[in-house]
Amino acid sequence: MKFILNKELGKLARWLRILGFDVVYYKSENLGTLIIEALREDRIIVTRSKIKFGNLEKNTVIVNSQDIKEQLKELIKNLNLTIDKEKMFTRCVLCNRILERVDKMSIKEKIPEYVFVTQDDFMICPECNKVYWQGSHWGNIKRTIAELGVY
Ligand SMILES: [Zn+2]
Repeated sequence: MKFILNKELGKLARWLRILGFDVVYYKSENLGTLIIEALREDRIIVTRSKIKFGNLEKNTVIVNSQDIKEQLKELIKNLNLTIDKEKMFTRCVLCNRILERVDKMSIKEKIPEYVFVTQDDFMICPECNKVYWQGSHWGNIKRTIAELGVY
């Protein structure tokens, strides 16, 4: 399932990417283009505004909460989403690209020394070159996801 989120849902976009979903974060005000992109790429539109999307309503989910955890819950419930643990942490939160495994020697300059010493598995985004690892940050995310009770 692929999504397109409009601009007031940036945080939710990042979270959905962490969970492994293909998410376009749409920052423009032009809803016409948003709809075209959604149709062309077969994406579910997620929005906070109660805008009529014509006959697209069945492809649109409105989240009501302001709270990120509640937004995730709403979406999961609404679409009966299943979270695939294998897909979690496989996508860049910034640009939606699938991460690639990278040898730690080749990214030594990009990471703090304690991380280099304590971690062995690294992923890199081929688009923005952001480096990811299973550090405490991902640990916190896992806890939050566990709290949602979605798997
Ligand atoms: Zn990236």
